[in-house]
Amino acid sequence: METYLSQLNEAQLAPTIQKDGPMIVIAGAGSGKTRVLTFRIAYLMSQGVDSFNILALTFTNKAAREMKERIATIVGTSEAKNLWMGTFHSVFAKILRFEADRLGYPSNFTIYDTQDSDRLIASIIKEMNLDKELYKYKQIRSRISSYKNNLITVKAYSQNPELKEADAMARRPKMGEIYKNYVDRCFKAGAMDFDDLLLKTNELLTRFPEVLAKYQDKFRYILVDEYQDTNHSQYLIVRALSDRFQNICVVGDDAQSIYAFRGANINNILNFQKDYDDVKLFRLEQNYRSTKNIVNAANSIIDKNQTKLDKVVWTANDDGAKIKVNRSLTDGDEGRFVASSIFENKMQNQLKNSDFAILYRTNAQSRAMEDALRKRDIPYRIYGGLSFYQRKEIKDVLSYLRLVINPADEEALKRVINYPARGIGQTTLDRLIVAANGYERSIFEVLQNIDKLDLNINSGTKNKLRDFVTTIESFQVLNKTANAFELAEHVTKATGLIRELNKDGTPEGVAKMENIEELLNGIKDFVEGQKEIVDATASLAEFLEDVALATDLDADKGDADHVALMTIHLAKGLEFPYVYIVGLEEDLFPSAMSMNTRSELEEERRLFYVALTRAEKQAYLTYALSRYRWGKLIDSEPSRFIEEIDEEFLDIITPIEERRFNPMLDADIFGDDISEIKRQANANKIRFKKPVQPTFKKKGAAAEKTPEKTIISTPKNLKPVSKAGGNVNLFDSKLTVGNIVEHLRFGKGEVLQIEGAGSDTKAEIKFVNGGVKKLLLRFAKLEII
Ligand code: ATP
Ligand code: MG
Repeated sequence: METYLSQLNEAQLAPTIQKDGPMIVIAGAGSGKTRVLTFRIAYLMSQGVDSFNILALTFTNKAAREMKERIATIVGTSEAKNLWMGTFHSVFAKILRFEADRLGYPSNFTIYDTQDSDRLIASIIKEMNLDKELYKYKQIRSRISSYKNNLITVKAYSQNPELKEADAMARRPKMGEIYKNYVDRCFKAGAMDFDDLLLKTNELLTRFPEVLAKYQDKFRYILVDEYQDTNHSQYLIVRALSDRFQNICVVGDDAQSIYAFRGANINNILNFQKDYDDVKLFRLEQNYRSTKNIVNAANSIIDKNQTKLDKVVWTANDDGAKIKVNRSLTDGDEGRFVASSIFENKMQNQLKNSDFAILYRTNAQSRAMEDALRKRDIPYRIYGGLSFYQRKEIKDVLSYLRLVINPADEEALKRVINYPARGIGQTTLDRLIVAANGYERSIFEVLQNIDKLDLNINSGTKNKLRDFVTTIESFQVLNKTANAFELAEHVTKATGLIRELNKDGTPEGVAKMENIEELLNGIKDFVEGQKEIVDATASLAEFLEDVALATDLDADKGDADHVALMTIHLAKGLEFPYVYIVGLEEDLFPSAMSMNTRSELEEERRLFYVALTRAEKQAYLTYALSRYRWGKLIDSEPSRFIEEIDEEFLDIITPIEERRFNPMLDADIFGDDISEIKRQANANKIRFKKPVQPTFKKKGAAAEKTPEKTIISTPKNLKPVSKAGGNVNLFDSKLTVGNIVEHLRFGKGEVLQIEGAGSDTKAEIKFVNGGVKKLLLRFAKLEII
């Protein structure tokens, strides 16, 4: 037997080596579901399944990357590279690029992020003269999203009186019209939003049987992690692709289904056995992640839910410490408690910052935590919230780049047509939008024909518009010869973006400049990894796609030592030795918005279950008696979830106001006023020792660095790929037409043609995995195989 299989218990081994047919693993948190998926892929490969024929869908790209790394250690890097692994969105965005023309889209289509969608919807509402209060763009966006995830197209909507009536009842009779306009505008802009990536994949697979057949044949083995949180659209894709070979393996835990608000359908996991014939069902019961106290407390929580599959979860791990519950007076105190506690734990147990996570229900809660951590000089990083790529200054640069690739991109154009200011006002823009809608053309095409059209725009403004077009066109010309980095750098200078920020001079302005620099560095890294590709446009387009689909977790370099702060939703699938679940108060967690029905409350309870089961050694539950919310100090009550845990697992620690005063630990309360600290110490009759400084394991220079603030680092996926082990520099080698080669990123391929000579030698290679590419051999990371 393969040696790595000995790292599995018997129950885990069974699904791992069940090679063919439909199967489901249903099991509680920490029982090794993700491990089974990972090992199963390695096992399939050892049984002769070609890595090109395996598709694994994960919840984050980071999870996919980690799995791939793990598999690489078992089967070798070159084989692991060919696996298709990633989120639904990133995998199907790639497929849509190949097939875009069938759907009338350019292959360089833009991916609109939520911000772009919001702006477009807001603009449509304004153009239609609708009441902003009734037609709130965020609500409209989530309606549209739910239509798309349920495959209700504009046409289907218009033929469904019930939907129309429901929207009319919600005092939004124009919903259908907004939906249609939104879809038309995205199409005209050559843009797909996140939901389109799934919807259009479904369209592709239903309308084109030959395409379906092609991908069914390619993806002979399909694996899905976190299956409990798939939506209808994802469900249909998985069904269609697995229909021919039926080698489908899904793993999940109904008790961890927490994305219903975003369209996830728990029935997908509950009904899986009805979808295929002869489904093998596997259960895992042993939890390897957490202590007995944590596992049993989590069990006692989820027991309170009526809708659930019966499951057993037990662990052979130690009892561990009881779950600590702490009450604070205010959210500020809560933050201080958490920071002190992390500090103490670090000192006592010689821990790293990355051993700790602070989990909360809403992003707004991070502020009090941040303040306290900063005071204690504890490095931390906030995940989620506004991602690096959504910051204004970054999005401005990216918008220019998006226009270079796809000038029809309306949202990009609207952002930068007058930024930096060039005297093109809103009225002009409105006229352009009306004209573009009227001619059914993109705004950019209208601009290119501005002289021929009668748009009631004066000649001065027309000149400015012409200049704008010339600028973008000049970038497009440059893009033919320059790489993405050179182009981006040129764009930031030529447009005056950098000058604009330099002028600013405020600390915010400086921070923005630094962010742009960080972006340019990221692009440079990316280009380094792509240098070999002759066609530079592809690299810019690919970069933009990575950016559009990067989630905040993906941006984690994984090497920095910091406390992780994130919402519970984002923490799914992760694990940390010490976990603080904060803000356990009624109306906050469970959320006030989720207490109307039993099913909503049960989803909140599952969320709490997810939070608690992230902890390996020690969990803390904290709440405050009052908290600033919406700018007001509001009294709060402890969450019902605390009471729901069996008392035997809890350790109610002394409330903060009664805690023995520890001058070193509580120093921040008094700022740096040492005399006040001493006075308090005397008053409390405390003699205190200077706390031992925690010793960090030395990890290069980073371990000694002063604590960092929130640093959004360059995403890991932008890092240049490591050099191929074998033959790197091939331009003077014996590469000939017909050679089969292996490329570090594109996989296997056949050399079709060689042209040029010396350091200019290029090879045209047809890759099994993704079309024909022309590579400059000087840079190409190729091996002849
Ligand atoms: P979740 O439901 O939270 O996603 P999961 O079921 O996917 O959890 P894993 O993340 O795969 O669980 O495993 C939880 C932890 O237990 C991991 O650290 C994993 O490495 C470890 N683990 C799983 N199985 C074993 C085993 N047989 N021996 C040792 N450690 C294991
Ligand atoms: Mg998992």
